[in-house]
Formats: sequence, structure tokens, C-alpha cells
Amino acid sequence: MRPAPLPSCSTILQPMRRIASLVLSSFFALGLAWSGPLQAAPATPAKPAALKLRLLQTSDLHMNLLNYDYYQDRETDDYGLAKTITLIQRARAEAPNHLLFDNGDLLQGNPLGDLVARIQPLRKGDTHPAYKVLNLLGVDAANVGNHEFNYGLPFLRQALAGASFPYVSANVMERGAQGQVRHAFTPFVLLKRQFKDEAGRMQTLKIGVIGFVPPQIMQWDRRHLQGRVEARDIVETARALVPRMRAQGADLVVALAHSGFEKTEQGHLAENTVAELTRVPGIDALLFGHAHAEFPSAQFAGYPGVDLVQGRIHGVPAAMPGRWGDHLAVVDLELQRQGRRWAVRHSRAELRPIMDRASRRALVKADPMVAHVIAREHADTLQALRASVAHSEVAIHSYFSQVQPSLAVDLVARAQLAYLERAVQGTALEGLPLLSAAAPFKAGGRQGWNFYTDIPPGPLAAKHVADLYLYPNQIKVLKLTGAELREWLEMSAGQFRRIDPAGPAEQELLDDDFRAYNFDMIAGLSYEIDLSQPARYTTEGLRTPAQGHRIVQLRYQGQAVDAQAEFLVVTNSYRANGGGNFPGLGPARIVVDAPDENRQSVAQYLASTAEFKPSRSSDWRIRPVPGVKLRFVSGAGGIAHLAQTPSIKLVETRPDGSALYELVE
Ligand code: MN
Ligand code: MG
Repeated sequence: MRPAPLPSCSTILQPMRRIASLVLSSFFALGLAWSGPLQAAPATPAKPAALKLRLLQTSDLHMNLLNYDYYQDRETDDYGLAKTITLIQRARAEAPNHLLFDNGDLLQGNPLGDLVARIQPLRKGDTHPAYKVLNLLGVDAANVGNHEFNYGLPFLRQALAGASFPYVSANVMERGAQGQVRHAFTPFVLLKRQFKDEAGRMQTLKIGVIGFVPPQIMQWDRRHLQGRVEARDIVETARALVPRMRAQGADLVVALAHSGFEKTEQGHLAENTVAELTRVPGIDALLFGHAHAEFPSAQFAGYPGVDLVQGRIHGVPAAMPGRWGDHLAVVDLELQRQGRRWAVRHSRAELRPIMDRASRRALVKADPMVAHVIAREHADTLQALRASVAHSEVAIHSYFSQVQPSLAVDLVARAQLAYLERAVQGTALEGLPLLSAAAPFKAGGRQGWNFYTDIPPGPLAAKHVADLYLYPNQIKVLKLTGAELREWLEMSAGQFRRIDPAGPAEQELLDDDFRAYNFDMIAGLSYEIDLSQPARYTTEGLRTPAQGHRIVQLRYQGQAVDAQAEFLVVTNSYRANGGGNFPGLGPARIVVDAPDENRQSVAQYLASTAEFKPSRSSDWRIRPVPGVKLRFVSGAGGIAHLAQTPSIKLVETRPDGSALYELVE
């Protein structure tokens, strides 16, 4: 591709770039921002000037610079900035006056990000691959996201030094040498730009750009940030600084909020503040992200103050472009000058997708610039991924994961547990018993009889992580009582049909309507499942009239679980937020709201485990029913593993690629 034309004030961006990395006070930073060579504005015309300005935004790219799925080791049409760039260049060609912003969560999130942060760390003077791409693309300003802090402050500052455009973050403070509190990053910039108005005259505008990050960075990256920086409330910061931007001459204020949009009123130090930010006077456009959702879209129908047609929240033009470059946010503003002020007369915000979701058809080709510019880093990442990270002496498969403990599920549970142990260290939660919930993700059925994890003995490569953990869920930790744990497992046990001890000699175990990913087992507990009892819950999570329990012999460290005792259970965001309708689970029970993906905990766990061996951390079994043969259907691929599985025997194979198996003592 042809690199985008350099911004008209590129000469003043050079000093900006240096000072952004030096961390100066806003006052000094802004002083420099104004000091470039400026052309005199034309004389004020008689008719009020009108001007169209297009704001473009990417957010939450998470290092998906290429349209490449590093876990599956193949190109993808689903995401990647290389595709979004094609949309950006089209949008630029349609509108001569345009600005491009990135809203953060750029530097972390895939193996390429890990490569340059950890495996082959950037050396002095190296440019981070994200900035090799974004510098060429021509970004006007960018915001720091919460994930930017994941690799620590020294790495972040080193990486940001490679950006040839200014970074803003207004609500993170640090202490200077004299103990004075100051901004840890440039809080806002005024970009001086020349645009052609509707009458063809050049107009000089100062575009104020301010950035915000969730104050929860102090929890999520405590080990990197505690004692070094302090995060302030987003809305309070905006109320204090937006008027200052206006006073310093901003004609227009664009807020880059790495913060989501909640339906209900949010309190002090809230994570998702977009609704409140739209009510801060002086913000002309709100570009937001963090939640990986899409605004405007039907997802936000019924939220207070939204106009999904024009893309506004409480009248303020607003957009959030999904994640990983799957959408470009386009916010068109029509400005009119009133005296010495520019005001937004009309606006329209929309998202442009890279793929048609319904037909799964790609809408754009990847721009070749990215592959060209980061060819070496991409190749090094692939080499690292294809290399083995651990070794397993046994096969890791999921063919029998619905009826007995499986290594494929157990490995995830153990990885999450290792994450939880680190997460609670030194916190008030330390000392509570730690448990880990995991479920079979690849378990045939309606996804097909080949849909299983089946990793042969030998090297475990990083790409196997995706096979073990399909979903980009985040880690969440719940605090629950022993009684609540039992009900969680009762809900899981709804996967099974009731077995009638006096019924037929051969009975089927699995209820086909139950989704395998809702069959949570809880590692750290031991228990038996008594299927002579009816299920206590329907698949919708409604209590049945059943009086008895299916979960029996529930023990923690050999002792019967006390109904009142408290436990920490690490799980995923889907379950913690109420997915699967599990009784008693929901966001109110979350005590550690971690931003990291469960998948990352698996990757870290494998990387720290040279030799992977089967273990006993999953300790549950279906209680035998005397006189009844317990049977289940799974993929025929499981037959190859029967020699290592004395507890299961083959009954028959079937033409559809499945097989009927029987559980034996
Ligand atoms: Mn993100
Ligand atoms: Mg984020």
C-alpha cells in the first residue's frame, strides 16, 4: 500500500514523541504541542464556515496486526488490522478531512505480542512491530488501554517511545522526584490540523484529544503498578480536564475512552463510564472500546439515551469498533463556526465490518503493508509457536470427558488453579481453599463426531493451547459456600439421564440436549454422581421437584465439605457472568475480575511444565448402578485410546463416525 500522507503538523510530532516517553506534565507537553510552524488562518469569512471532518477509530487490536490465527496456524477472515487498513484507506479516500485514532489494548493479546515482550524482548532502539505498522499507517493520536500495562511499565514506556504519534492517558498519576503528583502520561494533546471547509478554504483547527483507562488496572496489574502509579476516576478526571482543554484553545474535544458502556448508573472509580462521559460538558465525540462490543449496534438497543441510527449516546456521537480489527469505527462530523467557536451541527457514527457475519464472507482483502513490515516478527512468532513448549508422555484427548476425568479438561483446570494461586498472593483472599472449574469444550455431538481434542503423546506446541481452550473467555474467580458448590455440581450433573436401577439392563448416560461445555467439573473436590436420583435442575437452571442429590461423597482434602465454609473457584467469564444459568452464579459473586484469558493461563502453565503427566486433581466418578450397563456415544476416534482406558469398553461402531461405549468398574 501507499503510506498515508503525513499529517500536516508532522514537524511538531517529533518533539511530542520524545516527551511522551519522558513523562512530563500536561502543561509542558501542551506547550511543546503548540510550538510548531503554523500557517496563518485565512481571514474570517462573512458566511459562517462549515466543515466536514471524519474520525476513524480502531480499538482493542490486541496485536492482531495480521489476519492470522496463531493458534490454528492459518490465515483468518475474522479479524486483523491488515484487513481494517483496507477499510481505513477507503474511508480516507471518501473524506478528505480525516483523523485516525487507536483506543488501546494494542500491545498485548496474541503470541506476536508475547514474542516481543517476553521471548525476544525489544532491545534498545528497536521499534515495536505495532508501531512499525501504525507509524506507516499514519495515526493521529492513541490512548493507553488496560492491557498496555500487562508487561510492566518499563516495557510500556520503551514500546511507546517507538510511536511517531502522541499517546494520551489522563487518569493515571505518578509521583515526581519531589513527591509531587503528576500525570504518568501526556493527559491530552491539542492537534493542530488544517482542513478544507465546504467553501474550499483552509481552516486551522485545534483538535483536543484526551484518553482514559479503567482504574481497575490497579487490581489487574497490581504487581506491576502498585506503588508506582495511581489511577483516578475517569469521569472526575474528564470534568476537571475537558474545560482546561477548551481554555487552552481546543476547537473540538475527542475523548478516547478505553471504557465500556453500561446500561445502569456507575459509581466512583467505575470501569465502564461511557454513559457518564457523554454527560460531561465539552466532549464533542466519544470513541470508546475495552468491552470488545460494537456501538452502534442492536446489542445496545434499549440502553438509556442511545440513538442507534445516528450513533449517539445522550446526543454525543459515539462508536466502539468491536475487537481485533473486526470493525472500523467511522464518525462523521459536520462542524460550523459560530464566532470563534466550532460546533458540531450534525453527526453520524457507524461501524464498518471486515466480514459479513451472516454469510461468513470476507468483505475486504488484507492490505499487504502489514505482512511486509513485520515479516521477521511474524516468522519468529510462528517458529516459537510450532516449537514444543512441553512434552506429554500420554495422549491428551476428550473422547471420554463427559463420563470420567479427562486430561484435556484437567489440564485447563490445573492451569487456572496455578493462575489463581498467583492472583490471590498477598491479598485478603489468601488462605481460602482454591478450586478450579472446567468443562469439555470439544465433545462431538451436534458439532460432529470428529470434534474432539486429540493430541498424540510427544511434544506439546503452543498452538495446542487453542485446541484445549476454544473460547476467548477471561478468568474470573467466585467466592462461594460449600452448599453453593454442591448446587453448581448438581447443575452440571444435569448432563446425565436418570438411571433406573430396576429398569433395562442397558441404559444411556448422556442427555443429548445438555451442552457439554456446561458440564463443569470442579478440580480440588472429590465427589460421586448418583444417577439413580433425578436431576435437581433443568437445562434452564430451574429447580426441579427432586428432593435428593446426585452429588454425593463431596469432599475437600478428604473431609466432607462444610455447607457454610467459603471457597474460591476460578472459572471463566461466561460462567461467572451467568452463562449456562447455573444456580447462584452471577457477576455479584466475582471477587477477582481478571482481564487475562483462560487460554493464557493454559499457555503459561504449559510453558512452565516441562513434562506433562496425568494426575489426580480431577477426582470424580459416576457411581456404578448394580445390574445396569451404563452406555454412551462418543467419536470413534476414542477407540484408539481404549488400551489406555481400562474403565471403558467398546460396544459397537456406527456408520456416522460415532461409537457406542460402556463404562465398566
Ligand atoms: Mn481489550
Ligand atoms: Mg481493555
